[in-house]
Amino acid sequence: MTRPGEDYIASLDDGRTVIVDGERVGDLAKHPIFAPSVASVARLYDVSHDPANRDLMTYESPSNGQPANLAWLVPTSREDLKARRLAIEHWAKQSFGLFGRSPDHVASFFAGFVGASEWFSKGGKKYEDNLLRYYERARDEDLYLSYAIIHPQVDRTKAPHEQPEEHLYASIVDETDNGVVLRGAQMLGTGSAISNHIFVSCILPLPKGSEDYAISVSVPCGTPGLRIYPRRLYAGGATSRFDYPLSTQFDETDSLIVFDDVHVPWENVFVNRDIDITAAQFHETAAHNLGNTQAQIRFFVKLKFILGLARKLSECSGVIQSRPNQLDLGELAARVAIPEGMVLGAEGSSTVDSNGVARPNPKMLYAAMTLQPRLYQEIIFALREMTGGSMIEVPSSNLSWGDPVSEFDYGRYVRWPDTDSRERVKLLKLIWDIVGSEFASRAFQYEMFYAGSNSVVKGRSFANYPWGEATDLVDECLAGYALEGFEGVD
Ligand SMILES: Cc1cc2nc3c(=O)[nH]c(=O)nc-3n(C[C@H](O)[C@H](O)[C@H](O)COP(=O)(O)OP(=O)(O)OC[C@H]3O[C@@H](n4cnc5c(N)ncnc54)[C@H](O)[C@@H]3O)c2cc1C
Repeated sequence: MTRPGEDYIASLDDGRTVIVDGERVGDLAKHPIFAPSVASVARLYDVSHDPANRDLMTYESPSNGQPANLAWLVPTSREDLKARRLAIEHWAKQSFGLFGRSPDHVASFFAGFVGASEWFSKGGKKYEDNLLRYYERARDEDLYLSYAIIHPQVDRTKAPHEQPEEHLYASIVDETDNGVVLRGAQMLGTGSAISNHIFVSCILPLPKGSEDYAISVSVPCGTPGLRIYPRRLYAGGATSRFDYPLSTQFDETDSLIVFDDVHVPWENVFVNRDIDITAAQFHETAAHNLGNTQAQIRFFVKLKFILGLARKLSECSGVIQSRPNQLDLGELAARVAIPEGMVLGAEGSSTVDSNGVARPNPKMLYAAMTLQPRLYQEIIFALREMTGGSMIEVPSSNLSWGDPVSEFDYGRYVRWPDTDSRERVKLLKLIWDIVGSEFASRAFQYEMFYAGSNSVVKGRSFANYPWGEATDLVDECLAGYALEGFEGVD
């Protein structure tokens, strides 16, 4: 069943090895820099566990009748997709769309996996059974799964098995009676440091010879031999919540994951050295579709937040009265509406596949993902353009208000017509944290790469567009005339 935030917090104290600046971080929930991120995830769990949100956020687990987060639901109808969307949107609003890999992301992938679980039985019935049992456990215990499904950038010109050393990337190095042994590294586990389990696989196409790397397993974060190396958390450089309101709350962490002969019991192994099934699990099932639909819902919430900042800025500074500003906001609003429209369109034209799983229309989903990096860049640019130097002309920190001279000067010179200095600086520092801070810059990189480089995403758009819809029109047009036949105009 859904769990309260305090249960999630307690679950992180599992002996995991998280290494920062060469030192082992103990219980992350008690660590001053990780604690705010943990608290933000705990808040998500509190929201889904709140009886007031039961109808919005949960459905009845088929195993025990208890409420389960809707992200685990295998959708079989358009109504199911809508229910999933509303739950995902409500969660996304808790972080203003800033938690990309909230627990509903990988849960959505698993909903896709189990909707076509027979793919996993192609390697042996036991793997399908493992998947189904694991999914039920993760759903009913409301686990936070993160994933690491990309190889680190060692030599992109060579296949995994041709790298300078064997097992450089996460791969099976041994098999025992009890399970498999993993060795190597994987990137880039967003949320992994503060999740419960890491799903490890490879979404990149694998050539023959790379069978050891063709895996799909789940590893509890406290497993011996598993080392998690997060990048620097941006809260560490923040002077206060007032100065960096987003960096200090919504840093979801990104980590390099190292497997130093990590034992994975059979019950957590879903694909064992099979290149075809490893690829099929993402794209033949609805997993990639449902997981990335979650990502687009989260994305449009974030864009609305940015649009809200632009509007608020215009109102506070008084330029909202000016026609050019209204036109700028109108154009920004148009861009912000695109991904939401795509999500709704994909849902409205969804189909039920041969397994009975409802899938949002991939034409619109992959179109939205393809446009995402450029759209985000344009929206951030537009907000930057509206602020000019005002985001820079702010006090170095909240401490400035402790000094009467600074307070007087800022109060007199840094204000808007109906907005005093503190409120103005508060808003501008918030805007800086989404367009200019290190946190903001990472968020930009995230929107550009979270689903692969843009060439990979464009490839998905190419592969999923029903080209006949376009080329049939051209054929019809071409068929309407010939070499002769234009009689001129009487
Ligand atoms: C903030 C962030 C969070 C992430 N979170 C996760 C996560 O939770 N889980 C996870 O598994 N992954 C995650 N990723 C990893 C992400 O999936 C990868 O970054 C993405 O797949 C792109 O791979 P890459 O970084 O190796 O870049 P590359 O694929 O190497 O691409 C970098 C650039 O090189 C170009 N390029 C690549 N190959 C070639 C070539 N052969 N010839 C010419 N040009 C080439 C690309 O077009 C691109 O411009 C995250 C990434 C970021 C940035």
